[in-house]
Amino acid sequence: MSHPVLIIGAGVAGMTAAVELADSGIQTILVERKTTVGGNALDLYKAFPTDDCFYCFEGNRWRPGIRKCFYRSALLDQPNLVLKTNTTIKEISGEPGSFTVVLSVGPQYVDAAKCIMCGVCLEHSKAFDIVSPQCQPQAVTYDPSKADDGAKRAAEECPTKAIDLDAEPSEETVNVADVIVATGYHEMQPVNIDEYGYGKIPNVITQLELAQMLDPNGVAGGVLTRPSDGEPVRSVMMVQCVGSRDENYYPYCSKICCVFALKHANIIVLERENISVSVVYMDIRTYDRHERYYREAREAGVNFIRGRVQIVRPSTSGGVEVVVYDSLLDRYLRFDADLFVLSSALEAPEGGSEIIKALGLRESSGFVAPANPESEERVIVGDHVYACGTALGPAEVPESVTQARAVVSKILQSRRG
Ligand SMILES: Cc1cc2nc3c(=O)[nH]c(=O)nc-3n(C[C@H](O)[C@H](O)[C@H](O)COP(=O)(O)OP(=O)(O)OC[C@H]3O[C@@H](n4cnc5c(N)ncnc54)[C@H](O)[C@@H]3O)c2cc1C
Ligand code: SF4
Ligand code: SF4
Repeated sequence: MSHPVLIIGAGVAGMTAAVELADSGIQTILVERKTTVGGNALDLYKAFPTDDCFYCFEGNRWRPGIRKCFYRSALLDQPNLVLKTNTTIKEISGEPGSFTVVLSVGPQYVDAAKCIMCGVCLEHSKAFDIVSPQCQPQAVTYDPSKADDGAKRAAEECPTKAIDLDAEPSEETVNVADVIVATGYHEMQPVNIDEYGYGKIPNVITQLELAQMLDPNGVAGGVLTRPSDGEPVRSVMMVQCVGSRDENYYPYCSKICCVFALKHANIIVLERENISVSVVYMDIRTYDRHERYYREAREAGVNFIRGRVQIVRPSTSGGVEVVVYDSLLDRYLRFDADLFVLSSALEAPEGGSEIIKALGLRESSGFVAPANPESEERVIVGDHVYACGTALGPAEVPESVTQARAVVSKILQSRRG
C-alpha cells in the first residue's frame, strides 16, 4: 500500500523534503501556490554563509557533489514526486495517518510541459512574464489581470501551442498519510510604520527589494540607482529591527535580518564603487558563524550607529533626509541618504493561519508551533503532521534544510517502526 506525503510550500524547505522523500521511494505531492518553485530564495541574490549565488547553494547539497542549479536538477525526472504549482489547499479532513485533502488548482494558462521559453509571447503581450531565468518549471507565466490585445496573438503564434487563455480553475482530491507544512515566511511590508515613510517616499525600500536591485539578473542589472529619479546611489542607510522586537508589531527578534543586512552592506561596499553604507541598530545579532560578516563590515568601513531613527523625509538633493539619535554619543545626527533600507520583520505568510486551524496545530506569533513545547522535536507539530523551515519561524537556509531533513528522517523512522 502506498502512503503518500503531502508537502505544502515549495521553498527551499519543502523542496528539500520532497526530493529526499521521493528519493527514499515515498510518493510525494508537493503543492506550491505560485507558478514557480523556490520561494523567497529566488529573490535573494547571494547567500550567507557561503556567498554563493542562491541557485548554487552549497548548504543544500541537493545532489551531493553537484552544486549547480539545484532548482533544475532536484525536481526533474523523479517518478515519485508530483509537483503541483498554482495550487492551494481548500479543505483538509480525515484523521492522522489518513487525511483527505481537496486542492484548488488555479487555471493552467501555460502548459509548462510544452513551453520552450522561446519568448514569442513576451514580445506580443505584457501579460506574459519570466519569473526568473532559472525558474522551475521552465515556463513563462500569464497574468490575466494584465491581458491586452497582444495576448490572443501570443496564443496563436506560440510554436508549441502551450497557451490556453480560457483555462479554468479546478479541484482535485488526494489521500495522504502525512502532511508537511513548509509554507515559509513573508517579509513584512512596513506601510503602517509611519515614521519610516515606506510606500510614501520612493527611495525607502526593504532589504528584499535591495536584494533584487543588487542581483545582476534582476531588472536593474545589479546597478544601484535611486527609484525616484534613476540617479546613481552614492550613500545607503539601513535601519534594523523594523517591526521586530516591537510590541506594536512583532515582539520577537527576526533572527536573520542583522546577518542579511551586513551581507548586503558588504556587497555594496566591497563590490560597488564609491558607495558608503551606514547601519542604525539597537544590537547587532550575528549569531553563530555569521560574526564574520560584522567584522568584515567594520573592516570595510561600514558606519555603525547605535540609536533610533527619529525623522525620515525627502531631502532637497532628491534622496532621503534621516535624523538619528545616537545613544552612544548622546547626540542627534543628520544624514542625506540616496537609499534608506528597512530591515523589516519576517512574518507568517498569508493564509498560514487557515492551514494551522485546518490541521488543528498550535501557533506562535502566526507561525506553526511544535506540538510539545518542552520537546526538542521542533519539527513534529501534530500527529502525522510536521513542519520545517521558516514555517516554524525566522530561519536561514541551512537551518531550514536541516529541519526538512529531520522531517524526512522522522517519517522514514515512523514507517519502519
Ligand atoms: C532579505 C533576505 C535575505 C536573506 N538572505 C539569506 C541568506 O543569504 N542566506 C540564508 O541562509 N538565508 C537568507 N534568508 C532567509 C531565507 O530566505 C530563508 O531561510 C528560506 O528562503 C526559507 O525557505 P522556506 O522554504 O522555509 O520558505 P519560503 O522561501 O518562504 O517558501 C515557502 C513556499 O511556500 C509557498 N506557500 C506559502 N503558503 C502556501 C500555501 N498555503 N499553499 C501553497 N504554497 C504556499 C510560498 O509560495 C513559498 O514558495 C534571507 C531572507 C531575507 C528576507
Ligand atoms: S510562446 Fe509558447 S513556448 Fe514560447 S515562451 Fe510563450 S508559452 Fe512558451
Ligand atoms: S536579527 Fe537584528 S535586525 Fe533582526 S530583529 Fe533581531 S536584532 Fe533586529
